[in-house]
Amino acid sequence: MSSNSISKGRLLIITAPSGAGKTTVVHHLLREFDQQLAFSVSATTRPPRPGEIDGVDYYFITPEEFDAAIAQDQFAEWEEVYAGRKYGTLKSEIKRLWSMGQTIVFDLEVVGATKLKKMYPEESLAVFVQPPSSDILFERLRNRATEDAESLNARIERASLELSYANSFDLILVNDELENTLQDARQIVLDFLSLN
Ligand code: 5GP
Repeated sequence: MSSNSISKGRLLIITAPSGAGKTTVVHHLLREFDQQLAFSVSATTRPPRPGEIDGVDYYFITPEEFDAAIAQDQFAEWEEVYAGRKYGTLKSEIKRLWSMGQTIVFDLEVVGATKLKKMYPEESLAVFVQPPSSDILFERLRNRATEDAESLNARIERASLELSYANSFDLILVNDELENTLQDARQIVLDFLSLN
């Protein structure tokens, strides 16, 4: 099959403010459903955090490479999530995972998630992971050792905006007790995968 004739698969879009626990949910689902789900590795211009691996967590590329990819229309969606920090979903990544017959899991901020949902309204399920409260979310962000003061403030500001998107998606998954959250997430995927 040529890369142009790949039939569409399904998309599971997980979105949330930074710090809401979205990445934990995504990793859990990928482990639980390792035969059915595959992660869409995004491109980003932000530097890797300790432990992050190029090609696994992200494709870490330079701003010049990112802009060249934009110019060549290589992104399904992209966002400058923080000043100077761009993140994007490569069309080639979607094709690659669909050609393997897998349902793709995306870890996206709310604007990119909205765009992708609009592109694939029938094929996608978009889940908003909601922190128990905005105060708890801000506290979690402060406790993250990875952030310096400047990027922490940017993240808190961005998180406030992102919280307002909660009702824009198909489902809200409240992340209060992690065990319950993961169980609920598992059920959501079971229901989604049983659709045809
Ligand atoms: P982080 O720097 O914490 O890994 O990610 C920052 C934010 O960017 C998170 O909300 C994450 O979900 C989002 N993000 C990661 N990859 C993409 C992408 O390809 N497109 C969009 N729109 N957002 C992304």
